[in-house]
Amino acid sequence: MSETSPHQIIGRFAPSPTGCLHTGSLVAAVGSYLMAKRAGGRWLLRIDDLDAPRQVAGMDDDIMRTLESFGLFWDGQVARQSRHLDHYRQAFDLLRHKDLLYPCGCSRKEIALAASAPHPDDDCVPYSGSCRTGMKAGAVVRSWRIRVPEDEVCFRDLRRGHICQNLADVCGDFAVRRAECDYLYQLAVVVDDALAGVTQVVRGDDLLSSTPRQIYLLRMLGMPQPEYCHLPLLAGPDGAKLSKRDNLISQQPGSLKGQEGQLLLAVLRFLGQNPPAELAGSECQDILGWGIACFDTALLPAQGGVLQVQ
Ligand code: GLU
Repeated sequence: MSETSPHQIIGRFAPSPTGCLHTGSLVAAVGSYLMAKRAGGRWLLRIDDLDAPRQVAGMDDDIMRTLESFGLFWDGQVARQSRHLDHYRQAFDLLRHKDLLYPCGCSRKEIALAASAPHPDDDCVPYSGSCRTGMKAGAVVRSWRIRVPEDEVCFRDLRRGHICQNLADVCGDFAVRRAECDYLYQLAVVVDDALAGVTQVVRGDDLLSSTPRQIYLLRMLGMPQPEYCHLPLLAGPDGAKLSKRDNLISQQPGSLKGQEGQLLLAVLRFLGQNPPAELAGSECQDILGWGIACFDTALLPAQGGVLQVQ
């Protein structure tokens, strides 16, 4: 039985267990938690464990214990992508049935070489569409791609406003599955969120450029579209992009104990909120309680920056 009413906000946090919780992920956890709870909604936890080779044993537990140490308790059971394979297969079959998918024999190198424009991230090297009308004779299937239209996909982001992307220009027909049964992030996340009834996706700005692909997929699958809010990104101490090795927060002995409240307050200030000075030294529950009562999306800053822990 669902515990939710039709209009309830359902938010989520979806870490990948590739390491301990990152400070940048803590920002996404706190932001998604407070936006869901401020609206009287539920906040779900999903472990994004689809990419087995990148995972580190025990990190799912470590992330969960760390969230708990900040008072970030999720509602219901923890979901895991590795248990959703049947659902990914069904979505894949539906897209294939609609004649939206085709097999592709191109290697990453061939795709990069064929791309006419420089590409900002490896995740989205624009695909020229060479296998759209069939693979070269003798080529082996390396991935399955979805045909994208020339139209723009537009959505309103709660922080960034009106965003439009022409999928054909930015990424071209993108892969949804590797050769065998390896479903890829864009397809998986859309299916996961729909399965859990997620209505609000709050996550880091680094995923903003993926959102139009996800919206296109969910439209093709006939799934409802959640609202989106992409949060500013944390920079490392020297102002450069935070790397995966920076600022790992863990429940390993001696790592953080006693500083959770201070860090939570720093995250709130980073998100443009103005927690009162009296909260310094308070328990996480009290700080989150203030956030649930007062978090204001309109205050989210346009730019990211460095976390100032006082
Ligand atoms: N698992 C993804 C990550 O850790 C986030 C997925 C999402 O929020 O859509 O980067």
